[in-house]
Amino acid sequence: MPAPLSSTTRSTLTRKKNRAALDRADLHGVLDEALICHVGLVLNGSPVVLPTGYGRDGDTLYFHGSTGSGNLRAAAAHVDVCVTVTILDGIVYARSLNNHSMNYRSAVVHGRARAVTEAEEKLHGLRTITDHLTPGSWEHAREVNSKELAAVAVLTLDLTEASVKIRSGDPSDEPEDLAEGTAWAGVLPLRTSFGEPTPAPYVPGETPIPDHVVARTHP
Ligand SMILES: Cc1cc2nc3c(=O)[nH]c(=O)nc-3n(C[C@H](O)[C@H](O)[C@H](O)COP(=O)(O)OP(=O)(O)OC[C@H]3O[C@@H](n4cnc5c(N)ncnc54)[C@H](O)[C@@H]3O)c2cc1C
Repeated sequence: MPAPLSSTTRSTLTRKKNRAALDRADLHGVLDEALICHVGLVLNGSPVVLPTGYGRDGDTLYFHGSTGSGNLRAAAAHVDVCVTVTILDGIVYARSLNNHSMNYRSAVVHGRARAVTEAEEKLHGLRTITDHLTPGSWEHAREVNSKELAAVAVLTLDLTEASVKIRSGDPSDEPEDLAEGTAWAGVLPLRTSFGEPTPAPYVPGETPIPDHVVARTHP
């Protein structure tokens, strides 16, 4: 039985609690749809929040970067981290400025990351991240060599202590603004989509664009 979401005080919404999604499937849904997370921690006494790619395997989040990254080194030192993922679904226009809003699905994960040092697990973490960000590349691209493997840090974060917040639907204007007013109100949906693949200049012109890339452009 998986742990419930928002299992601790710090992972429980205090404002707009009705926007909390408490199903672990909602967490997985947000993490599987978005491509980047923001890793936040306190580094040398000062907060820093950096965008980072990631991948999910069950209830484990993997993220990676250069072994030279101070941020990742700090995260690996078993300090508290907070990882956020945001999907923006739309801009909400209301009659009043105060009720302008956004439609979104966002996830916050609290915990302590762990540096993966064992080679097999490290490769599994890298594959999980690759399969999430560039599905098909693990099979298609040249494989990671030992020098590259040594230069990359892979971290895991358990998804036990997490929260999901979702806003969807119409604007919510005040009763007096519903009754009268001339300002337009509604939702402007926002979608992130892939464009046409552009081959690198050193790729011979006759090289076909591989299926795993085309599939993302024309799903
Ligand atoms: C795209 C986007 C835009 C936003 N814009 C604004 C804005 O302009 N102004 C504003 O006040 N708020 C905005 N929010 C909501 C904001 O993220 C906070 O939820 C809100 O400000 C409440 O803050 P709090 O300190 O009271 O959080 P609390 O509810 O007290 O936070 C307690 C715990 O609840 C969880 N939690 C809180 N917020 C979120 C979240 N968004 N997603 C997942 N878990 C969460 C975390 O685990 C957190 O530690 C926005 C959210 C998104 C996704």
